[in-house]
Amino acid sequence: MIVPAIDRAIDVPLPIVCAFVGAIGAVIGSFLNVVIHRVPLEQSIVFPSSTCPHCKNSIKPYDNIPILSWLILRGKCRACSAPISIRYPAVELLTAVTFFLVYWRTDLTPILPVYLAFAAAMIALIFIDAEHMILPNVITYPLLVLALAVRIVFPLVFAQNFFSDTLHWPATYLAGQPAWLVSLFGAIVGALAGGGSLWLVGVIWKRLRGVDAMGLGDVKMMLGVGALLGWRLAFLAIFLGAFSGAVIGLAIVTKQKDKDLQAQIPFGIFLGTGSILALLFGEQLVAWYLGTFVR
Ligand SMILES: [Zn+2]
Repeated sequence: MIVPAIDRAIDVPLPIVCAFVGAIGAVIGSFLNVVIHRVPLEQSIVFPSSTCPHCKNSIKPYDNIPILSWLILRGKCRACSAPISIRYPAVELLTAVTFFLVYWRTDLTPILPVYLAFAAAMIALIFIDAEHMILPNVITYPLLVLALAVRIVFPLVFAQNFFSDTLHWPATYLAGQPAWLVSLFGAIVGALAGGGSLWLVGVIWKRLRGVDAMGLGDVKMMLGVGALLGWRLAFLAIFLGAFSGAVIGLAIVTKQKDKDLQAQIPFGIFLGTGSILALLFGEQLVAWYLGTFVR
C-alpha cells in the first residue's frame, strides 16, 4: 500500500481513535467467528442467530459482546456451562488489533474499507483453513472480484494512486496509458504472480514427487491477494508465508516425527498471515531489502 502523508485531516486524540477502530474490529471479528463456523458447513451466515453448539440455547445479545462476554462468562455457556472455544475471543482480539494496524498504516483514505475487508477475509480464511483444511470459494472468488473491481474503479474515481506496483516494472511499460488500464494490468500481473506461481510450483512438484503440494484453494486465494497488492507484495506474502510455514512446520516435525506431515499443514494459514503482513509492512520490507541487498 502507499502510505499517505502523516498530516491528518482531523486531529482526534489517538486513544479515542484506537478504541473506536478497535471496537469496530472486535465487532467484525465477532461476525468472522460466525463465518468461520458456518461457511465450511455451508450454512447461512445471517440466519439463525448464534446458539450454543452444546445445549442449542440461543445466545443473548448481552452475552454476545466481543471479547468481554467470553471473559465475564470465563469461557463457558451461561445456560449449560459447556466450554466455549478460546478461538472466539482470539479472533475478535486479532481482528481488533489488525483493524487498528490497517487504519494506522492507511489513515482515513478511500482505500481503507477495501483493506479492512481484505484483512477480514484473510482472517476468516486463516481460521477456516486451520480447522477444516479448506479455503472456501465463497470467500476466495469474491476476494478476486473485489480486487479487480477496486483496481479498475479507484483510478477512475480518485486522483490519488493507491497501488504502488503501478510505479514499477512491468507496469511502467504502459506509461502514458489511462490510469485504470495501468492499474488493471498491474492487477493481472499480480494475480499471475500470486496465484500463477503457486499453481506452477504445484504442477512441478506433482511431476517430480507425484503428490499434490498444495490445493487449488491456495492458488485462488493468492490470485485475489496478488490482484489487489501487486506482484511485489504478492511474492513477499508467499515468501513470508513459506518462511513462517517452514519454521513452524519444522518445529512440529521435530516434535512429532511424522513423515506424512506435508499433507497436514494447511498452507493457507501462512499465506494469509504473510498477506496481512505484506499489506501492513510490505512496502517498507521491500524497500529495506532492495536498499540492503540490491545496490
Ligand atoms: Zn450451552
